Amino acid sequence: MDDLASLCKRRGFIFQSSEIYGGLNGFWDYGPLGCELKRNVRNAWWQDMVQTREDVVGLDCSIIMHPRVWEASGHIGGFADPMVDCRACKKRYRADQLCEEQGQALIKREDGSLALPEGIVCTACKSKELTEPRAFNLMFKTFVGPVEDASAVAYLRPETAQGIFAQFGNVLATARQKIPFGIAQIGKAFRNEINPRNYTFRSREFEQMELEFFVKPGADAEWHAYWVAERLKWYASIGLPAASLTQYVYTQKELAHYASACTDIMYAFPFGVQELEGIAARGDFDLSRHQQFSGKSMEYFDPETNEKFLPHVIEPSGGVDRIALALLCNAYAEEWVPKQGPAIPAERGKQAPEGYEARTVMRFAPRIAPIKVAVFPLLKNKPELVARARAIFGQLQRHWICFYDTAGAIGRRYRRQDEAGTPFCLTIDFQTLEDGTLTLRHRDSMQQERIHEKELLAHLSGLIDAW
Ligand code: ATP
Repeated sequence: MDDLASLCKRRGFIFQSSEIYGGLNGFWDYGPLGCELKRNVRNAWWQDMVQTREDVVGLDCSIIMHPRVWEASGHIGGFADPMVDCRACKKRYRADQLCEEQGQALIKREDGSLALPEGIVCTACKSKELTEPRAFNLMFKTFVGPVEDASAVAYLRPETAQGIFAQFGNVLATARQKIPFGIAQIGKAFRNEINPRNYTFRSREFEQMELEFFVKPGADAEWHAYWVAERLKWYASIGLPAASLTQYVYTQKELAHYASACTDIMYAFPFGVQELEGIAARGDFDLSRHQQFSGKSMEYFDPETNEKFLPHVIEPSGGVDRIALALLCNAYAEEWVPKQGPAIPAERGKQAPEGYEARTVMRFAPRIAPIKVAVFPLLKNKPELVARARAIFGQLQRHWICFYDTAGAIGRRYRRQDEAGTPFCLTIDFQTLEDGTLTLRHRDSMQQERIHEKELLAHLSGLIDAW
């Protein structure tokens, strides 16, 4: 993780938020490469979940909504994590995580209150002087308008889903969709996590990609299975191998009282197997609560059967930042490259053997690589080469994020693009001026081929846009 975090900083994927002021715990900024990576994750999701389907439409809701939304959803009453403090060193923990780390489970008393089991100590100072666990609501509070009183309290949304439920009626009235259909949204969510950790994995500000897919009551199990399978296919399409993913299927006891099924898609991070996305069958809980709290009907009229009913919902809910982190972890590789022939994986902490050179390479799938193509004139002081290279660069930039580089030997330029994860590099040399061919170099195999300028666009498009 440390090697990856250092590459992310060095190459401009991820920076600490407000770094010049010492940073702010739980907040992160994405640099030039990181913001492209995230944009590609969002675009891939939107392409597959909205653009190429006829039964899903998009929505973009405000981050601050009427506080009644969060009463109806249960977040004001129940969106809390248990918190404990160490009386000796003042360190604060999420009680369930502290217990889990010490191989125990938080105790739930008959009256619903929580207690720490015997033997739990502060991780930092080993003191047993810990407070009782108490509920801490994770929603960020703010005030709307100039007066900071109770009537002006509002919350930053802790999930994007509730905006979709609150607007269900308007979408239904305007989008000409029939059940089964879905509403998708991508956007920021905020949770005042007690203990942000594992780099960007648990942040206080993050981005969600959520689909609420509305179905006929009774069709829940079938559609839940469908969406689990669809989502797994999607992860493969962005280059996360099936072997790195697992499914965690909730037991009846673990399910929320209104849910009939929930499956988490988990990725094997260096710090453990952790959730990327949850796919839950939530029944009609959300729509019925908003109907009750707003007094507005959320019912669907089925034109075929002339029946009115509250639809049930299947919710695949993923996090852009967690997926981007999984992609970064999965892409990272250190290799030893011989003068000729294929590279071998580097051994940790060792120098490359005689005749080999070490390289760090980010093996992103072309679909999500931040930069798709880098363009190099062989020499920067030959105006004919530079002009030709710039013309090609200008043409390709209209299709993809590209990078133009003239600095240093070609080998050095390839290595820099390897670290950025750029799958394809093009070198324009003297032969290009003669016959219009140029060198296409592949990141993973490091193989080079000569292709004609005329075939360039179609060839690259086949490599980048086919998934
Ligand atoms: P966790 O148990 O890890 O706190 P959760 O089960 O509460 O997550 P959900 O409420 O199901 O998470 O949110 C859906 C998705 O939003 C998660 O799968 C994750 O990808 C993302 N997400 C949730 N909380 C965070 C966070 N603090 N930082 C980054 N991403 C998050």
